[in-house]
Amino acid sequence: MLQFSNNNSFNISMKDKLQKYYKTLAELKSLEGISNLLEWDQEAVMPQSSVEARADKVAIIGKLMHEKSVELDHVNLVNELSDNRDQLDPIDQRSVEVTKTELEKETKLPTEFVEEFSKNKSLSQQAWYEAKMKEDFSIFLPYLEKMFEYTKQYANYVDPTKPIYDVLLDGYEEGMTTENLKVIFSDLKNNLKEILPQIKTQPSNEVFQNKDFKKHITKELIEELTAKVGFDYSRGVLGEVHHPFETKISTNDTRINTRYSELELQTSITGAIHELGHGLYEQNIDPKYAHTSLDQGVSLGIHESQSRMLENMVGRGKAFCTYAKEVLQKYYPIYKDVSVDSLVNDLNIVKPSFIRIEADEVTYNMHIILRFETELDLLNGKLEVKDLPEYWNAKMKDLLGIVPTKVSEGCLQDVHWSMALIGYFPTYTLGNLNAGQLWNSFTTKNPNYEKEFSQGNFSSYFNYFKTNVWTHGTFHKPAELIKQVTGEELNSKYFVEYLRKKYIL
Ligand SMILES: [Zn+2]
Repeated sequence: MLQFSNNNSFNISMKDKLQKYYKTLAELKSLEGISNLLEWDQEAVMPQSSVEARADKVAIIGKLMHEKSVELDHVNLVNELSDNRDQLDPIDQRSVEVTKTELEKETKLPTEFVEEFSKNKSLSQQAWYEAKMKEDFSIFLPYLEKMFEYTKQYANYVDPTKPIYDVLLDGYEEGMTTENLKVIFSDLKNNLKEILPQIKTQPSNEVFQNKDFKKHITKELIEELTAKVGFDYSRGVLGEVHHPFETKISTNDTRINTRYSELELQTSITGAIHELGHGLYEQNIDPKYAHTSLDQGVSLGIHESQSRMLENMVGRGKAFCTYAKEVLQKYYPIYKDVSVDSLVNDLNIVKPSFIRIEADEVTYNMHIILRFETELDLLNGKLEVKDLPEYWNAKMKDLLGIVPTKVSEGCLQDVHWSMALIGYFPTYTLGNLNAGQLWNSFTTKNPNYEKEFSQGNFSSYFNYFKTNVWTHGTFHKPAELIKQVTGEELNSKYFVEYLRKKYIL
């Protein structure tokens, strides 16, 4: 008996091993949900004075997650399952593959580093917020220096043989390299430089300005619009934050967020529709993946394609506006006298501006190219963090011909770097390119979409993307997915064509 019990591990079947793997995965997913909830709460609800106590809590959860994921038993189990992948079905195979890839990074990070990094991210976010409010870059400077230092250390731990930026990119967009991106972005930059001077949009009719908008009314309006497109409020929430984002707490708890202004309505609505795109993706992953590591969007570039396609190609289109005008005037009767054309015009003004999240869909990509080039220069030592404000302004002048006068409109506008999200910005523009290609595929196969959208019927859109993109979660790799849906490798052709058709032809 004793001998049998000592050799017990040899007798455990693959089924039992899988069960053990999924049990640990479930615990890790719960911890991740708790961490996401704490972060959502910090952005949406938490009183500011609680920031240090919250940083401690976030750090402890981060530590627990790290320790749990790198436990020797779990690591050995994942490796063993991976070595015997031929015996697994395709879903288990892919789940193990995704876990193994993540683990390979985690196991290389010392626990103290993870804890320290996590705590400093929370403090850094708070410093960023204060610096932005006070228009004082010096408040954020020491924290930002730390974030770039930690990021370099992180990349060195993960893979010291690869360029730092390649390691970072790979974390967001599997397989993407700096050299690849340089090619794609320089091609896009050339096209944008050619397109931009040819675009002649009308000035704003100010239909979204200064109308004394009430937060609670705008919130109801947005809930109606987003539910109509397909957001399931029995499994989701619309929250209020300073910088809009989407997060998933669990399979049946997806949170989209926007911000409100009494003076201006457009950014509340377009921000919410953008996050709705992320939310629909997360809410509509096949439930059969819920217990696996495939229960999330496959990459940031694909995720962003879903948000930016919904925001720009759908939400700023005439068909959607025809429907939205009816909803707008229900909540704000002043919209009775506003024409659909005025709405469309004001949603599609192309003009260089300071704030990325408020930029039009054409100049937006210049904002991303600016951040991409800045990150590279900060990481390769061509630029010191202390010189960032001046550097930023010079780049802005070069790419968009304008110079911000406040840091809140310049290098302090985005939360990303305060959270060490470096190498993340390029995925927004990759999202645009994916969106252009996917939108072409949808509109080709659904020629009646304009009529349907204008009547508030989004079922063709919902079903097309649920079937072809959302339901698959992380099952297909990004490049495979795009090829499978559109029949082509990712390219910029369709996005550039879309811009030309909409603004020039
Ligand atoms: Zn987004």
